[in-house]
Amino acid sequence: MTSIEKNISALQERIEKFATSAGRDSQELLLLAVSKTRDIEEIQRAASQGLNAFGENYLQEALHKINALKSMSFEWHFIGPLQSNKTKQVAENFGWVHTVDRLKIAKRLNDQRPENLGPLNICLQINIDNEPTKSGLSPDQACDLALSIRQLPNLRLRGLMAIPQARHNIKSQRQPFRALFLLKQEINQQLDNFQKLDTLSMGMSGDIEAAIHEQATILRVGTDIFGPRPDKANNKEDKTT
Ligand SMILES: *Cc1c(COP(=O)(O)O)cnc(C)c1O
Repeated sequence: MTSIEKNISALQERIEKFATSAGRDSQELLLLAVSKTRDIEEIQRAASQGLNAFGENYLQEALHKINALKSMSFEWHFIGPLQSNKTKQVAENFGWVHTVDRLKIAKRLNDQRPENLGPLNICLQINIDNEPTKSGLSPDQACDLALSIRQLPNLRLRGLMAIPQARHNIKSQRQPFRALFLLKQEINQQLDNFQKLDTLSMGMSGDIEAAIHEQATILRVGTDIFGPRPDKANNKEDKTT
C-alpha cells in the first residue's frame, strides 16, 4: 500500500472511533478529500480507496483535474475564495460550493448554473471567530442571506461552512464548531420543513475530532490523506526546473 492508502484507512478508523464516542453513525459523515496542489495520480490513489468527493480551492488547477478525470463521475466541491469573474466556470463544473458569503455571488451562480445539471449545492461561509482578515460573513448576517438564497431556484442551500482560528486542544476547538451548529439551528427555525439546512462543513486535519463531536457532516481533509503540502516556494522552484 502507498502512504495515501495507509493514511486513508488510518483516517477512516479515527473517524469511526470519534463518531462512536460522539454517539453518531459515521454514515452521516462525508469525507471530502481536499486535493489542492495534488496531482491526478494522487487523486486516483485516493479514489481507489473509495473516496469520490474532492475539494479544490483554485479554479484553473481544478478545471484541469476535473477535465482529466471526467470519466470518473466524482463529486467536485469548490472550497476556495470565490470572485465574480469565476462564478460561471464554478457553476458549470462543480456540484457544491462551500464559500458563498454574499448575495451577488449567489445570484450569479444561480443565473449561470446549467439547467441540465440540477441545482448547485451551497454552503454559506461564516467568519465564526469574527476575524477581520478572514473571508466569510458574520454570524448575524447569515439568516438574511440564507432566506434570500432560498428564493433562487438553481441553488440548493445545504448549510454552513467555517474555518475557525487554530486552537490547540479539543475543548477550545469545539467552541467555534458549537457556535456554527447553534447558528444552523437558529436559521432552521426560520425555514419551512422541506427547506431545512442539513449540512455543517467543518473540521480539517487538525480538528476533526472536535468537529465530529459538534455534528459536522462534511469533513474537509487534505494533509491527513495526502501528506504535508509543498509550500509555495517549492512550487515555484518546480516550475522553473
Ligand atoms: C486546505 C483546506 C483544507 C484542508 O486542510 P488540511 O489541514 O490539509 O486538512 C480544508 N478546508 C479548506 C477551505 C482548505 O483550504
